[in-house]
Amino acid sequence: MAARACITGGAGFLGSHLCDRLLAEGFEVVCIDNLLTGTPQNVSHLLDHPRFTFVRGDVTKPLWVEGPVDYVLHFGSPASPKDYVRYPIHTLKVGALGTHHTLGLAKAKGAGYLLASSSEVYGDPQISPQPETYWGHVNPVGVRSVYDEAKRFGEALATAYYHTHGLAVRIARIFNTYGPRMRADDGRAVPTFIGQALAGEPLTVYGTGLQTRSLCYVTDTVDGLFRLLVSPDAADDSPASFPVNLGSVDEITMRDLAELIIRITRSRSRISYEPLPPDDPKVRRPDISRAARLLGWAPRVSLADGLAMTIDYFRQGLAAGAR
Ligand code: UDP
Repeated sequence: MAARACITGGAGFLGSHLCDRLLAEGFEVVCIDNLLTGTPQNVSHLLDHPRFTFVRGDVTKPLWVEGPVDYVLHFGSPASPKDYVRYPIHTLKVGALGTHHTLGLAKAKGAGYLLASSSEVYGDPQISPQPETYWGHVNPVGVRSVYDEAKRFGEALATAYYHTHGLAVRIARIFNTYGPRMRADDGRAVPTFIGQALAGEPLTVYGTGLQTRSLCYVTDTVDGLFRLLVSPDAADDSPASFPVNLGSVDEITMRDLAELIIRITRSRSRISYEPLPPDDPKVRRPDISRAARLLGWAPRVSLADGLAMTIDYFRQGLAAGAR
């Protein structure tokens, strides 16, 4: 019988790509989403799939799923700074209550559990690259705290379920990921710059543009997530007891990213420098040696190729959300 996975946030950017991957691996998929920031369009191609079910539901409320469940993946949350600043309380609730409810479901079903955590647990890091052993540098009352602290709480709760109930917990610290199905209006650098470049408008680089991110193409991130989900426990070095960074190690400044997107799109747009939002991390680059060692994983898609595929998606007018 096919393994059965329940994924929250399954109609989101990452979640919908994970649904695709799980179905391709022969899983049965129950996709749960309240469509706050996700969009039905992301899973519309799956609605007739015999192993796919869509449930509109809000996991800040207790949830129950009939029948066997082998894996629970908690990916529901507003995830872009613009989205979580717009929905601060819901972001905290889905990271805290939603994690509690989905852990409870996994415990009741004896299922494996994968938590979508984030590089945001490192805050504005004081060391670079960031290994999983770094505790982070987070402003607990800053604008990003609703997301950062929710993810940190989620990690603590998942770890407590591992220690207390022996739940097979996996924690992925996901770094910046981009690709098709990002919303045009989610406010992140990649979709914003692409939209602006294609429209011939100025690219809004915040601050000096010298802040860096490491951008991973979505299929690479999803490959790491899938490997982590099905990874076995190792006695002394268990993925269950440690978070695993997943992301690209190719660090780029936001100014260089804007220039690259202008070049690839052959746009006539220029760059306009806008104020830097508060608490914007200055650097971000994962140490991915743990993922390499435990999962045999490394990203494969170059930034140029990944951006070309993403630009193609935006050019075709497929992205949801008005800019
Ligand atoms: N950024 C920018 N212009 C934009 C959107 C974002 O310069 O229109 C910057 C932002 O200040 C940050 C970086 O790009 O330094 C990445 O932002 P994003 O929202 O993509 O992700 P995150 O900050 O969560 O890594």
